[in-house]
Amino acid sequence: MKIAVIAHDGKKPEMVAFLMRNKSKLNAVDLVATGTTGKYAENSGLVVTKLLSGPVGGDAQIAAMAAEKKLDMVLFFRDPLGKHPHEPDVQMLMRICDVHNIPIATNPATAQLLLDAIWKKHQE
Ligand code: PGA
Repeated sequence: MKIAVIAHDGKKPEMVAFLMRNKSKLNAVDLVATGTTGKYAENSGLVVTKLLSGPVGGDAQIAAMAAEKKLDMVLFFRDPLGKHPHEPDVQMLMRICDVHNIPIATNPATAQLLLDAIWKKHQE
């Protein structure tokens, strides 16, 4: 199972809390993340493949993986109150996930529901 994680700066604390809460599950999956998010994940003790930082192409790299159906799920801790120079990439990532029917969570509550559901499905 391969899961991509992205967190905008304003949501990195919530992302770290999510990772810590779900460490046992996330230890068993192949994790990829945008650059800075990936560093936080590593500091939380997880093994993760780090891509470019979001604003310089990391979101686009994750979208490309989604388009190639190389991801089972995207956990995107978006900050709806912040301004992001790479907003077009953010929109593109969400659009590509919808085009290819890749599950994408955009807040911690949905991320938890999705992770629990996909985890249960893989245990069956
Ligand atoms: P970052 O990118 O993990 O490199 O901070 C996240 C984003 O803003 O898309």
